[in-house]
Formats: sequence, structure tokens, C-alpha cells
Amino acid sequence: MAKVLIIGCGGVAGVAIHKCCQNSEVFEEICIASRTVSKCEAVKAQLEGKTKTKITTAQVDADKVDEVIALIKKVQPDLVMNIALPYQDLTIMDACLACGVNYMDTANYEPEDIDDPEWRAVYDKRCKEEGFSAYFDYSWQWAYKEKFEKAGLTALLGSGFDPGVTQAYCAYAQKHLFDEIDTIDILDCNGGDHGYPFATNFNPEINLREVSAPGSYWENGHWVEIPAMSIKREYNFDQVGQKDMYLLHHEEIESLAKNIPGVKRIRFFMTFGQSYLTHMKCLENVGMLSTTPVEFEGHQIVPIQFLKALLPDPASLGPRTVGKTNIGCIFTGKKDGKEKTAYIYNVCDHQECYKEVGSQAISYTTGVPAMIGAMMLLTGKWNKPGVYTVEEFDPDPYMDALNKWGLPWQINDNPALVD
Ligand code: NDP
Repeated sequence: MAKVLIIGCGGVAGVAIHKCCQNSEVFEEICIASRTVSKCEAVKAQLEGKTKTKITTAQVDADKVDEVIALIKKVQPDLVMNIALPYQDLTIMDACLACGVNYMDTANYEPEDIDDPEWRAVYDKRCKEEGFSAYFDYSWQWAYKEKFEKAGLTALLGSGFDPGVTQAYCAYAQKHLFDEIDTIDILDCNGGDHGYPFATNFNPEINLREVSAPGSYWENGHWVEIPAMSIKREYNFDQVGQKDMYLLHHEEIESLAKNIPGVKRIRFFMTFGQSYLTHMKCLENVGMLSTTPVEFEGHQIVPIQFLKALLPDPASLGPRTVGKTNIGCIFTGKKDGKEKTAYIYNVCDHQECYKEVGSQAISYTTGVPAMIGAMMLLTGKWNKPGVYTVEEFDPDPYMDALNKWGLPWQINDNPALVD
């Protein structure tokens, strides 16, 4: 039915590619393109002969708009799936506009170089105006709305798990469960154990930037920012057990605050073990999380990129990670004039994911919704010109697809609430 260009071939893309190949009726042909083409060829070799999907590969530096344009012209896809890094979001969106192709990704834009004065000026202004200081925000991609509208193209932003599935849960709650949603708590629990003293479950640079930043939440129409890891709660997660979780800034809070009418508070919590936090603090204190290049023996080295080279590749954690993830949203609000609560969540088992697609559950829970988001666009269920996040579309076909393609969800009508 359709041809897709997938850019990036890391942990998340690996799962998305496997899932596209399980769904050959929709994904008739895929081209896997990335900076290191040997990774694309290795995935192709794993899957060829086991799928009806035709697979080709290509090398591309997606930081360069011209290279992406040339590749799109050659491949002629119906959709570009950006599963590289958030750094490439804008260049790939520009290339899609130049070629008249729909776009989707799994994370909102952030710059690689946060010392770039041009970016910094916009960032400083945004921090003052909006009141949160994360390096990533939607403003850069929302600025493309009119261009995509005029071109009659759809850009779907953030179709991973969080962002992504969590927003589909919110849209579902809004459509089917509540007349008014008062509060949303997004809980991201990873109860998995990979046996290393320290490793990140997805790209270390993006992950460590996210969790070392100040936390923030949305309350009564504005942002409240707090020092990193300063709000801690305990929660007893279904099939995982009791875990410590910490309030973080997270990108979907920004779009949900706009799109869930009347919502009074939105918070995001992620679980971390003490060992992870101690390692991270130490690395931060010695400057290893810095993105500013330093001179070392005649070479320019970016500390966090050097650290990435030392840490286990997230894509290699699959065989050794055991345990489960539990990610979902707790809602409070009203239905038919009565107070109501609901908790929509998914539980995913690391080893089951590994058996199915050769990857741990963090990549799995992101790669499956990436395939589903692409399917929504390719089958015409979610097409409207402009730039949109997941909660802006009808959640029903997406929620059905989650059940069908490996991320079944459940609803608890009487969950413990987070204070
Ligand atoms: P990885 O680091 O494992 O993979 C990134 C891939 O992008 C690699 O193949 C890399 O190539 C490629 N790449 C990087 N720069 C370029 C470039 N300039 N041109 C072409 N290819 C490039 O990351 P993950 O798979 O862990 O994460 C992928 C995305 O998913 C990220 O944006 C991440 O933020 C997002 N994510 C979203 C989640 C969600 O729930 N929404 C959760 C987890 C991740 P090379 O092999 O050469 O390095």
C-alpha cells in the first residue's frame, strides 16, 4: 500500500522497522536511511526473507537539508518517519516541505549546540515568557504549522510512548471517560534491571539532558519550575511493585495544557533507582554531562558525547534486561456531575520484547507507537494539513492499534492517587 522512508537506525528505529515489517499490508516498502549505513544493512539482513515488506537502505546525514531532499526525491516515499534524534527534526521537516511529503517523529526539537547564540536568544526569551527552562519545547515545530497547512501536508509530532501513547490516553479519557478532566499525572515506571551499575535505556545524551534538567509542572494556567529531582513520591505499580519516582519536565505537558480544555494540573513522574541518581549526580558534578566542547590533547571533545561512547549502547541492553515497564496516566475529573478517577496504563515485559524483536521494552514501547502513528497517516485516518500532536486526533483507531500491535492497555477505575 505505501512506501516509507525511515531516518535513523538506533534502538527505537530498530523496533519500528520490525513492526513495519510485521505489517506489510500497510508498509509495502521501506527505505532505512541513517548516518551509519552499516547499521541499516544489518537490520535489513535480519529481516529479509521473513517479511513481505521490501527493504532498501541508504546513507544520509540528516543535519543537511539538501541530503535529505535528494534522498526523498530518489526514494519517493509517502511518509518520512524521523526516528533519528531531536536535533534533526527541523532539517527533516524542511526537506519534507520542499518535497511535498508527510512527516512524523518521536520527540520534539532540541538543538545539539545549546551555546549557539541565535538559538540561545530565543531560548532565554522563552524561559522568561513561559517559565520553564528545558532545552526542548514545541515552539520550533509549531512555527511550521502554517507552512504545512499551506502545503496540504500533515506533520505528526511525538508518536512514541511518552510523548505519544500518553496523549492518546488523554484524548481517550476526554472522549469516553470524562466530561471534565481536572488533573493528569503521567507515571513512567521502568522496573527493568540490566545488571550494569549505570546505563541509559535510550540515547544517553538525550536521556541525561532530560533527567538532569529542572523539573516543572503545569498548574492553574502556568508553569511551576522546581530544582531537578526535588519532588519525590512513592507509588505501587501494578506488576512492578513499589518504586520511587521523581517529578520531571516532559514535553507532552506543554501540548496537553493547550489541548485538554479546563485542565488544572498536569505532572510527569519517572522512576529512578538510587544508583542511577548517584551516578548521574557525580557525572554532572565533574562536567561529564556538558555539551560544550573541551580541548583535550589537541582534540575538541564534547564531554557528554565521550560519555556516550563509554556507556553501554542502549540497543545492546535487550538480552540482559529483565522486569517490566508500567507507563500510564491517572486522571481525576467529573462525569455526569460526579467526581471520577481513572488510570489508563500499559505493562510491558522486557524479555517478551526481546523475544519478539530483539530489543528491551523502552525501545519497544517507543518503536511500536512510531509504527502505529505512521499507519494512522498512511491509512488516511489521521490526515489533516498542519502540525499536530497525538491528542489532537481521534484516539480510537490508535488505541485499537495499540491492543493489536503489542501494547495492550487497561483501565483501573479506582487507582491510588499521587499526592
Ligand atoms: P539512538 O541513539 O539509539 O539512535 C539514533 C539514530 O539516529 C542512530 O541510528 C544515529 O546514527 C541516527 N542519527 C543521529 N544523527 C543523525 C544524522 N545527523 N543523520 C542521520 N542519522 C542520524 O536513539 P534512540 O533510538 O534511543 O532514540 C531515537 C529517538 O526516539 C530520539 O529522538 C529519542 O529522543 C526518541 N525517544 C522517544 C521516546 C518517546 O517515548 N517518545 C522514548 C525514547 C526515545 P548513528 O548510528 O550513526 O549514530
